[in-house]
Amino acid sequence: MDYISTRNSQKNFTFKDVFLKGLASDGGLFVPKKIPKFASQELENLKNLSYKELAIKIILKFCKDEFNEKEIRDLVNSSYKNFRVDDVVKIKKFGKINLLELFHGPTLAFKDIAMQVIGNMYEKILKKNNLKVNIVVATSGDTGAAAISAIRDRKNMKIFVLHPENKISEVQRKFMTTVDSNNVFNIALASNFDECQKFVKLMFADNDFRNSINMTGVNSINWSRIVIQIVYYFFSYFKIAKENEKINYSVPTGNFGDIFAGYIAKKMGLPINKLIIATNSNDILKRAISTGIYKPLKVEHTISPSMDIQVASNFERLVFDACSCSSDKMIKLMNDLDERGEFKLEKNQLEKISKNFCSESLSEQETKSVIKDMHNKQKILVDPHTAVAIGVANKMSLEGNTVILATAHPSKFSETVMKATGIKPDLPENLENILVTKEKYEKLPKDLKKIKNYILERCNY
Ligand SMILES: *Cc1c(COP(=O)(O)O)cnc(C)c1O
Repeated sequence: MDYISTRNSQKNFTFKDVFLKGLASDGGLFVPKKIPKFASQELENLKNLSYKELAIKIILKFCKDEFNEKEIRDLVNSSYKNFRVDDVVKIKKFGKINLLELFHGPTLAFKDIAMQVIGNMYEKILKKNNLKVNIVVATSGDTGAAAISAIRDRKNMKIFVLHPENKISEVQRKFMTTVDSNNVFNIALASNFDECQKFVKLMFADNDFRNSINMTGVNSINWSRIVIQIVYYFFSYFKIAKENEKINYSVPTGNFGDIFAGYIAKKMGLPINKLIIATNSNDILKRAISTGIYKPLKVEHTISPSMDIQVASNFERLVFDACSCSSDKMIKLMNDLDERGEFKLEKNQLEKISKNFCSESLSEQETKSVIKDMHNKQKILVDPHTAVAIGVANKMSLEGNTVILATAHPSKFSETVMKATGIKPDLPENLENILVTKEKYEKLPKDLKKIKNYILERCNY
Protein backbone atom coordinates (compact mmCIF):
# COMPACT_ATOMS: atom_id res chain seq x y z
CA MET A 1 0.00 0.00 0.00
CA ASP A 2 1.32 3.42 -0.96
CA TYR A 3 0.80 6.47 1.20
CA ILE A 4 0.86 10.17 0.26
CA SER A 5 0.84 13.46 2.17
CA THR A 6 -2.31 15.61 2.09
CA ARG A 7 -0.03 18.40 0.86
CA ASN A 8 1.77 16.43 -1.87
CA SER A 9 -0.11 13.69 -3.70
CA GLN A 10 2.81 12.98 -6.06
CA LYS A 11 5.33 11.45 -3.68
CA ASN A 12 4.81 7.91 -2.33
CA PHE A 13 5.68 6.67 1.16
CA THR A 14 5.73 3.22 2.78
CA PHE A 15 3.97 2.22 6.01
CA LYS A 16 7.32 2.32 7.79
CA ASP A 17 7.94 5.94 6.69
CA VAL A 18 4.44 6.92 7.73
CA PHE A 19 4.72 5.17 11.09
CA LEU A 20 8.09 6.64 12.04
CA LYS A 21 7.60 10.17 10.68
CA GLY A 22 4.08 10.72 12.07
CA LEU A 23 3.72 14.04 10.25
CA ALA A 24 4.97 14.59 6.67
CA SER A 25 7.88 17.03 6.39
CA ASP A 26 5.69 19.32 4.20
CA GLY A 27 3.40 19.71 7.23
CA GLY A 28 0.70 17.48 5.73
CA LEU A 29 -0.84 14.30 7.13
CA PHE A 30 -0.25 10.87 5.64
CA VAL A 31 -3.17 9.05 4.01
CA PRO A 32 -3.36 5.87 1.91
CA LYS A 33 -3.36 6.54 -1.81
CA LYS A 34 -6.32 4.20 -2.06
CA ILE A 35 -8.56 2.88 0.73
CA PRO A 36 -9.06 -0.91 0.53
CA LYS A 37 -12.68 -1.98 0.25
CA PHE A 38 -14.22 -5.24 1.48
CA ALA A 39 -16.57 -7.01 -0.95
CA SER A 40 -19.87 -8.10 0.62
CA GLN A 41 -18.74 -11.73 0.82
CA GLU A 42 -15.58 -10.62 2.63
CA LEU A 43 -17.67 -8.61 5.10
CA GLU A 44 -19.78 -11.71 5.68
CA ASN A 45 -16.62 -13.66 6.53
CA LEU A 46 -15.53 -11.07 9.09
CA LYS A 47 -18.86 -11.10 10.90
CA ASN A 48 -18.24 -13.79 13.49
CA LEU A 49 -14.58 -13.19 14.24
CA SER A 50 -13.31 -12.44 17.73
CA TYR A 51 -12.06 -8.88 18.30
CA LYS A 52 -8.44 -9.94 17.98
CA GLU A 53 -8.95 -11.99 14.80
CA LEU A 54 -10.79 -9.06 13.26
CA ALA A 55 -8.00 -6.70 14.29
CA ILE A 56 -5.42 -8.90 12.57
CA LYS A 57 -7.41 -8.90 9.29
CA ILE A 58 -8.00 -5.15 9.26
CA ILE A 59 -4.59 -3.93 10.45
CA LEU A 60 -2.77 -6.21 8.01
CA LYS A 61 -4.54 -4.53 5.06
CA PHE A 62 -2.64 -1.32 5.80
CA CYS A 63 0.85 -2.59 6.59
CA LYS A 64 1.52 -5.73 4.57
CA ASP A 65 4.77 -4.24 3.26
CA GLU A 66 6.21 -4.07 6.76
CA PHE A 67 4.68 -7.00 8.67
CA ASN A 68 3.53 -10.50 7.78
CA GLU A 69 0.42 -12.08 9.26
CA LYS A 70 2.27 -13.90 12.01
CA GLU A 71 3.94 -10.69 13.15
CA ILE A 72 0.61 -8.85 13.30
CA ARG A 73 -0.96 -11.77 15.15
CA ASP A 74 1.82 -11.62 17.77
CA LEU A 75 1.53 -7.83 18.02
CA VAL A 76 -2.23 -7.94 18.52
CA ASN A 77 -2.20 -10.78 21.02
CA SER A 78 0.54 -9.33 23.20
CA SER A 79 -0.98 -5.82 23.03
CA TYR A 80 -4.36 -6.87 24.38
CA LYS A 81 -3.34 -9.48 26.92
CA ASN A 82 -3.59 -7.03 29.81
CA PHE A 83 -7.02 -5.66 28.96
CA ARG A 84 -9.68 -6.35 31.55
CA VAL A 85 -12.04 -7.97 29.00
CA ASP A 86 -11.17 -10.73 26.53
CA ASP A 87 -12.76 -9.09 23.52
CA VAL A 88 -10.97 -5.76 24.28
CA VAL A 89 -14.26 -3.78 24.22
CA LYS A 90 -17.71 -4.27 25.76
CA ILE A 91 -21.14 -3.40 24.37
CA LYS A 92 -24.07 -2.49 26.63
CA LYS A 93 -27.59 -1.76 25.47
CA PHE A 94 -30.01 0.78 26.97
CA GLY A 95 -33.13 1.14 24.77
CA LYS A 96 -32.11 2.70 21.46
CA ILE A 97 -28.68 3.53 22.83
CA ASN A 98 -25.75 1.16 22.53
CA LEU A 99 -22.70 1.99 24.62
CA LEU A 100 -19.44 0.79 23.11
CA GLU A 101 -17.05 0.74 26.07
CA LEU A 102 -13.51 1.35 24.89
CA PHE A 103 -11.89 1.95 28.26
CA HIS A 104 -10.89 -1.49 29.49
CA GLY A 105 -7.16 -1.00 28.83
CA PRO A 106 -4.40 -0.06 31.31
CA THR A 107 -5.06 3.73 31.47
CA LEU A 108 -8.86 3.69 31.22
CA ALA A 109 -9.41 5.55 27.93
CA PHE A 110 -9.93 4.41 24.34
CA LYS A 111 -6.44 5.56 23.44
CA ASP A 112 -4.96 2.40 24.99
CA ILE A 113 -6.50 0.31 22.21
CA ALA A 114 -4.27 1.85 19.53
CA MET A 115 -1.34 2.82 21.71
CA GLN A 116 -0.61 -0.65 23.10
CA VAL A 117 -0.28 -1.97 19.54
CA ILE A 118 1.87 1.01 18.56
CA GLY A 119 4.30 0.34 21.42
CA ASN A 120 4.83 -3.18 20.13
CA MET A 121 5.06 -1.98 16.51
CA TYR A 122 7.83 0.43 17.48
CA GLU A 123 9.77 -2.30 19.17
CA LYS A 124 9.57 -4.53 16.08
CA ILE A 125 10.39 -1.78 13.55
CA LEU A 126 13.27 -0.36 15.59
CA LYS A 127 14.80 -3.79 16.04
CA LYS A 128 14.51 -4.69 12.35
CA ASN A 129 16.10 -1.40 11.34
CA ASN A 130 18.54 -0.99 14.19
CA LEU A 131 17.14 2.44 15.16
CA LYS A 132 16.71 4.54 18.30
CA VAL A 133 13.99 7.17 18.60
CA ASN A 134 12.71 9.93 20.85
CA ILE A 135 8.95 10.26 20.98
CA VAL A 136 7.60 13.75 21.64
CA VAL A 137 3.87 14.05 22.22
CA ALA A 138 1.35 16.62 23.41
CA THR A 139 -1.64 15.44 25.41
CA SER A 140 -5.02 16.81 26.39
CA GLY A 141 -4.95 14.20 29.15
CA ASP A 142 -5.38 10.66 27.85
CA THR A 143 -2.93 10.24 24.95
CA GLY A 144 0.05 10.85 27.23
CA ALA A 145 -0.95 8.23 29.76
CA ALA A 146 -1.72 5.66 27.07
CA ALA A 147 1.59 6.37 25.32
CA ILE A 148 3.62 6.18 28.53
CA SER A 149 2.01 2.88 29.46
CA ALA A 150 2.84 1.51 26.00
CA ILE A 151 6.43 2.82 25.79
CA ARG A 152 7.73 2.65 29.38
CA ASP A 153 10.79 0.49 30.04
CA ARG A 154 11.29 -0.30 26.35
CA LYS A 155 14.78 -0.21 24.89
CA ASN A 156 15.86 2.33 22.26
CA MET A 157 12.92 4.64 22.95
CA LYS A 158 12.45 7.67 25.16
CA ILE A 159 9.19 9.51 25.54
CA PHE A 160 8.61 13.20 26.31
CA VAL A 161 5.02 14.17 27.11
CA LEU A 162 3.77 17.78 27.25
CA HIS A 163 0.54 18.32 29.16
CA PRO A 164 -1.22 21.61 29.95
CA GLU A 165 -0.56 22.34 33.63
CA ASN A 166 -3.70 22.19 35.83
CA LYS A 167 -5.97 21.61 32.85
CA ILE A 168 -6.34 17.84 33.12
CA SER A 169 -7.94 15.75 35.85
CA GLU A 170 -5.90 14.54 38.83
CA VAL A 171 -6.29 10.90 37.82
CA GLN A 172 -5.28 11.72 34.24
CA ARG A 173 -2.12 13.43 35.52
CA LYS A 174 -1.25 10.71 37.97
CA PHE A 175 -1.48 8.02 35.31
CA MET A 176 1.49 9.81 33.69
CA THR A 177 3.48 11.25 36.54
CA THR A 178 3.58 8.24 38.85
CA VAL A 179 5.25 6.04 36.24
CA ASP A 180 8.74 5.36 37.47
CA SER A 181 10.75 4.50 34.39
CA ASN A 182 13.96 6.09 33.19
CA ASN A 183 12.77 6.49 29.59
CA VAL A 184 9.72 8.57 30.58
CA PHE A 185 9.75 12.40 30.89
CA ASN A 186 6.69 14.45 31.83
CA ILE A 187 6.53 18.18 31.17
CA ALA A 188 3.75 20.38 32.59
CA LEU A 189 3.46 23.43 30.37
CA ALA A 190 1.98 26.65 31.75
CA SER A 191 -0.55 26.77 28.91
CA ASN A 192 -3.43 24.95 27.18
CA PHE A 193 -3.48 21.84 24.95
CA ASP A 194 -3.53 23.69 21.62
CA GLU A 195 -0.27 25.38 22.57
CA CYS A 196 1.29 22.11 23.70
CA GLN A 197 0.34 20.68 20.32
CA LYS A 198 1.65 23.79 18.55
CA PHE A 199 5.07 23.39 20.23
CA VAL A 200 5.25 19.75 19.19
CA LYS A 201 4.35 20.71 15.61
CA LEU A 202 7.03 23.42 15.63
CA MET A 203 9.63 20.89 16.76
CA PHE A 204 8.52 18.54 13.98
CA ALA A 205 8.77 21.36 11.45
CA ASP A 206 12.35 22.15 12.56
CA ASN A 207 14.16 19.58 10.41
CA ASP A 208 17.53 20.08 12.12
CA PHE A 209 16.10 19.52 15.57
CA ARG A 210 13.88 16.68 14.45
CA ASN A 211 16.67 14.81 12.68
CA SER A 212 19.24 15.46 15.39
CA ILE A 213 17.19 13.57 17.98
CA ASN A 214 15.45 11.07 15.64
CA MET A 215 12.17 12.53 16.75
CA THR A 216 8.96 10.63 16.19
CA GLY A 217 5.35 11.14 17.25
CA VAL A 218 2.35 9.20 18.53
CA ASN A 219 -0.25 11.99 18.46
CA SER A 220 -3.51 11.12 16.79
CA ILE A 221 -2.07 12.45 13.54
CA ASN A 222 -0.06 9.20 13.39
CA TRP A 223 -1.88 7.17 10.74
CA SER A 224 -1.36 3.85 12.53
CA ARG A 225 -3.62 5.00 15.37
CA ILE A 226 -6.47 5.53 12.94
CA VAL A 227 -5.95 2.09 11.42
CA ILE A 228 -6.13 0.33 14.77
CA GLN A 229 -9.26 2.29 15.76
CA ILE A 230 -11.13 1.15 12.63
CA VAL A 231 -11.43 -2.29 14.19
CA TYR A 232 -14.01 -1.44 16.87
CA TYR A 233 -16.39 0.12 14.36
CA PHE A 234 -16.48 -3.18 12.48
CA PHE A 235 -16.67 -5.27 15.64
CA SER A 236 -19.53 -3.28 17.17
CA TYR A 237 -21.42 -3.10 13.88
CA PHE A 238 -21.37 -6.89 13.51
CA LYS A 239 -22.57 -7.31 17.10
CA ILE A 240 -25.37 -4.75 16.90
CA ALA A 241 -26.72 -4.38 13.38
CA LYS A 242 -29.31 -6.61 11.79
CA GLU A 243 -28.93 -7.64 8.13
CA ASN A 244 -27.20 -4.67 6.41
CA GLU A 245 -28.91 -2.22 8.73
CA LYS A 246 -27.40 1.26 8.60
CA ILE A 247 -26.40 2.50 12.02
CA ASN A 248 -25.12 5.80 13.41
CA TYR A 249 -22.07 6.39 15.57
CA SER A 250 -21.90 9.27 18.04
CA VAL A 251 -18.26 10.09 18.82
CA PRO A 252 -17.00 12.52 21.49
CA THR A 253 -14.58 14.48 19.37
CA GLY A 254 -11.48 16.59 19.89
CA ASN A 255 -8.68 16.01 17.42
CA PHE A 256 -11.01 14.18 14.98
CA GLY A 257 -8.93 10.97 15.05
CA ASP A 258 -11.44 8.55 16.55
CA ILE A 259 -14.34 9.59 14.33
CA PHE A 260 -12.14 9.67 11.23
CA ALA A 261 -11.45 5.97 11.82
CA GLY A 262 -15.24 5.50 11.56
CA TYR A 263 -15.22 7.30 8.22
CA ILE A 264 -12.49 4.99 6.91
CA ALA A 265 -14.56 2.00 8.13
CA LYS A 266 -17.46 3.37 6.08
CA LYS A 267 -15.24 3.78 3.02
CA MET A 268 -14.08 0.18 3.49
CA GLY A 269 -17.67 -0.93 3.05
CA LEU A 270 -19.22 -0.90 6.54
CA PRO A 271 -22.88 0.26 6.27
CA ILE A 272 -22.64 3.27 8.58
CA ASN A 273 -25.35 5.92 8.23
CA LYS A 274 -24.22 9.11 9.98
CA LEU A 275 -21.11 9.80 11.96
CA ILE A 276 -22.10 12.25 14.68
CA ILE A 277 -19.37 14.68 15.72
CA ALA A 278 -20.18 15.34 19.38
CA THR A 279 -18.34 18.31 20.88
CA ASN A 280 -18.31 20.29 24.10
CA SER A 281 -18.30 24.10 23.95
CA ASN A 282 -15.10 23.92 21.88
CA ASP A 283 -17.31 23.54 18.86
CA ILE A 284 -15.06 24.43 15.90
CA LEU A 285 -16.19 21.32 14.00
CA LYS A 286 -19.87 21.99 14.52
CA ARG A 287 -19.36 25.52 13.19
CA ALA A 288 -17.26 24.25 10.28
CA ILE A 289 -19.92 21.76 9.23
CA SER A 290 -22.83 24.16 9.52
CA THR A 291 -21.16 27.17 7.85
CA GLY A 292 -18.20 25.80 5.88
CA ILE A 293 -15.90 28.16 7.78
CA TYR A 294 -13.17 26.48 9.81
CA LYS A 295 -12.02 29.03 12.33
CA PRO A 296 -10.21 28.21 15.59
CA LEU A 297 -11.27 30.37 18.54
CA LYS A 298 -9.92 30.52 22.06
CA VAL A 299 -9.90 27.17 23.88
CA GLU A 300 -12.42 26.87 26.69
CA HIS A 301 -11.63 24.74 29.71
CA THR A 302 -14.49 22.26 30.30
CA ILE A 303 -15.38 19.18 32.36
CA SER A 304 -14.53 17.04 29.30
CA PRO A 305 -10.90 18.18 29.00
CA SER A 306 -9.78 15.60 26.43
CA MET A 307 -11.93 17.49 23.93
CA ASP A 308 -10.75 21.00 24.86
CA ILE A 309 -9.26 21.51 21.43
CA GLN A 310 -9.78 24.16 18.77
CA VAL A 311 -7.36 22.85 16.16
CA ALA A 312 -8.69 19.45 15.15
CA SER A 313 -5.61 18.19 13.32
CA ASN A 314 -7.15 15.12 11.73
CA PHE A 315 -9.83 17.22 10.07
CA GLU A 316 -7.24 17.93 7.38
CA ARG A 317 -7.61 14.30 6.27
CA LEU A 318 -11.35 14.74 5.77
CA VAL A 319 -10.94 18.06 3.97
CA PHE A 320 -8.39 16.43 1.65
CA ASP A 321 -10.94 13.73 0.88
CA ALA A 322 -13.64 16.35 0.29
CA CYS A 323 -11.28 18.19 -2.11
CA SER A 324 -11.08 14.95 -4.17
CA CYS A 325 -7.52 14.49 -2.93
CA SER A 326 -6.16 17.66 -4.52
CA SER A 327 -3.07 18.66 -2.57
CA ASP A 328 -3.03 22.03 -4.37
CA LYS A 329 -6.45 22.87 -2.96
CA MET A 330 -5.35 21.61 0.46
CA ILE A 331 -2.26 23.80 0.49
CA LYS A 332 -4.34 26.81 -0.43
CA LEU A 333 -6.77 26.20 2.41
CA MET A 334 -3.94 25.71 4.90
CA ASN A 335 -2.32 28.94 3.72
CA ASP A 336 -5.62 30.74 4.29
CA LEU A 337 -5.70 29.30 7.80
CA ASP A 338 -2.16 30.53 8.50
CA GLU A 339 -2.63 33.97 7.00
CA ARG A 340 -6.24 34.80 7.82
CA GLY A 341 -6.92 32.51 10.78
CA GLU A 342 -9.66 30.62 8.90
CA PHE A 343 -10.51 28.80 5.69
CA LYS A 344 -13.78 28.34 3.84
CA LEU A 345 -14.92 25.12 2.21
CA GLU A 346 -16.62 25.23 -1.19
CA LYS A 347 -20.28 24.25 -1.42
CA ASN A 348 -19.63 20.88 -3.06
CA GLN A 349 -16.94 20.01 -0.50
CA LEU A 350 -19.29 20.82 2.35
CA GLU A 351 -22.07 18.75 0.77
CA LYS A 352 -19.76 15.77 0.53
CA ILE A 353 -18.94 16.09 4.23
CA SER A 354 -22.57 16.58 5.27
CA LYS A 355 -23.58 13.37 3.52
CA ASN A 356 -21.54 11.40 6.04
CA PHE A 357 -21.29 13.63 9.12
CA CYS A 358 -23.48 15.77 11.32
CA SER A 359 -22.52 17.70 14.45
CA GLU A 360 -23.88 19.23 17.64
CA SER A 361 -22.33 20.55 20.82
CA LEU A 362 -23.33 20.15 24.45
CA SER A 363 -23.05 22.76 27.20
CA GLU A 364 -21.52 22.02 30.60
CA GLN A 365 -24.96 22.03 32.20
CA GLU A 366 -26.38 19.64 29.63
CA THR A 367 -23.42 17.31 30.08
CA LYS A 368 -23.91 17.20 33.84
CA SER A 369 -27.61 16.41 33.40
CA VAL A 370 -26.79 13.52 31.09
CA ILE A 371 -24.45 12.04 33.71
CA LYS A 372 -27.18 12.45 36.32
CA ASP A 373 -29.93 11.04 34.09
CA MET A 374 -27.90 8.02 33.05
CA HIS A 375 -27.35 7.25 36.70
CA ASN A 376 -30.97 7.82 37.75
CA LYS A 377 -32.67 6.08 34.84
CA GLN A 378 -30.16 3.49 33.66
CA LYS A 379 -28.17 2.91 36.85
CA ILE A 380 -24.86 3.47 35.11
CA LEU A 381 -22.06 5.97 35.69
CA VAL A 382 -20.67 7.58 32.54
CA ASP A 383 -17.69 9.89 32.18
CA PRO A 384 -18.22 13.45 30.87
CA HIS A 385 -16.87 12.70 27.36
CA THR A 386 -19.22 9.78 26.90
CA ALA A 387 -21.99 11.99 28.31
CA VAL A 388 -21.37 14.54 25.54
CA ALA A 389 -21.81 11.81 22.92
CA ILE A 390 -25.03 10.58 24.56
CA GLY A 391 -26.47 14.09 24.94
CA VAL A 392 -25.67 15.00 21.35
CA ALA A 393 -27.15 11.73 20.01
CA ASN A 394 -30.35 12.50 21.97
CA LYS A 395 -30.47 16.01 20.49
CA MET A 396 -30.07 14.77 16.93
CA SER A 397 -32.54 11.86 17.29
CA LEU A 398 -31.57 10.25 13.98
CA GLU A 399 -33.39 7.23 12.61
CA GLY A 400 -32.14 3.76 13.47
CA ASN A 401 -29.72 2.40 16.00
CA THR A 402 -26.99 4.64 17.35
CA VAL A 403 -23.74 3.49 18.90
CA ILE A 404 -22.16 5.78 21.49
CA LEU A 405 -18.40 5.55 21.80
CA ALA A 406 -17.74 5.44 25.56
CA THR A 407 -14.20 6.77 25.51
CA ALA A 408 -13.19 6.90 29.17
CA HIS A 409 -13.88 5.11 32.44
CA PRO A 410 -15.94 7.27 34.87
CA SER A 411 -13.27 6.96 37.57
CA LYS A 412 -10.86 8.95 35.42
CA PHE A 413 -13.14 11.95 35.97
CA SER A 414 -14.37 11.01 39.42
CA GLU A 415 -14.88 14.56 40.72
CA THR A 416 -17.21 15.54 37.91
CA VAL A 417 -19.15 12.28 38.14
CA MET A 418 -19.34 12.62 41.93
CA LYS A 419 -20.73 16.16 41.66
CA ALA A 420 -23.43 15.08 39.22
CA THR A 421 -24.52 11.85 40.91
CA GLY A 422 -23.30 11.90 44.50
CA ILE A 423 -21.37 8.71 43.82
CA LYS A 424 -17.63 8.43 43.54
CA PRO A 425 -16.70 5.90 40.83
CA ASP A 426 -13.98 3.49 41.94
CA LEU A 427 -10.84 2.89 39.95
CA PRO A 428 -10.65 -0.71 38.73
CA GLU A 429 -8.67 -3.09 40.91
CA ASN A 430 -4.89 -2.77 40.91
CA LEU A 431 -4.98 0.84 39.74
CA GLU A 432 -5.69 2.57 43.06
CA ASN A 433 -1.97 2.71 43.84
CA ILE A 434 -1.51 5.60 41.36
CA LEU A 435 -3.38 7.82 43.81
CA VAL A 436 -0.72 7.46 46.51
CA THR A 437 2.47 7.03 44.48
CA LYS A 438 4.90 9.96 44.37
CA GLU A 439 4.61 12.10 41.24
CA LYS A 440 7.50 13.16 39.04
CA TYR A 441 7.29 15.93 36.43
CA GLU A 442 8.99 19.11 35.28
CA LYS A 443 7.18 22.45 35.05
CA LEU A 444 8.25 24.52 32.06
CA PRO A 445 7.15 27.95 30.75
CA LYS A 446 5.67 28.27 27.25
CA ASP A 447 9.03 28.86 25.64
CA LEU A 448 10.04 26.69 22.69
CA LYS A 449 13.75 27.11 23.35
CA LYS A 450 13.49 25.94 26.94
CA ILE A 451 11.42 22.92 25.91
CA LYS A 452 13.92 21.99 23.21
CA ASN A 453 16.82 22.31 25.64
CA TYR A 454 15.08 20.15 28.21
CA ILE A 455 14.64 17.44 25.58
CA LEU A 456 18.16 17.81 24.16
CA GLU A 457 19.70 17.36 27.58
CA ARG A 458 17.87 14.08 28.15
CA CYS A 459 17.38 12.48 24.75
CA ASN A 460 20.69 10.71 24.29
CA TYR A 461 21.27 7.04 24.89
C1 LIG B 1 -8.87 11.82 23.13
C2 LIG B 1 -10.22 11.69 23.67
C3 LIG B 1 -11.35 12.09 22.95
C4 LIG B 1 -11.24 12.75 21.59
O1 LIG B 1 -10.77 11.88 20.59
P1 LIG B 1 -10.17 12.47 19.24
O2 LIG B 1 -9.66 11.29 18.49
O3 LIG B 1 -9.08 13.42 19.64
O4 LIG B 1 -11.29 13.16 18.53
C5 LIG B 1 -12.59 11.87 23.50
N1 LIG B 1 -12.74 11.32 24.74
C6 LIG B 1 -11.68 10.93 25.47
C7 LIG B 1 -11.90 10.35 26.82
C8 LIG B 1 -10.39 11.10 24.96
O5 LIG B 1 -9.34 10.71 25.70
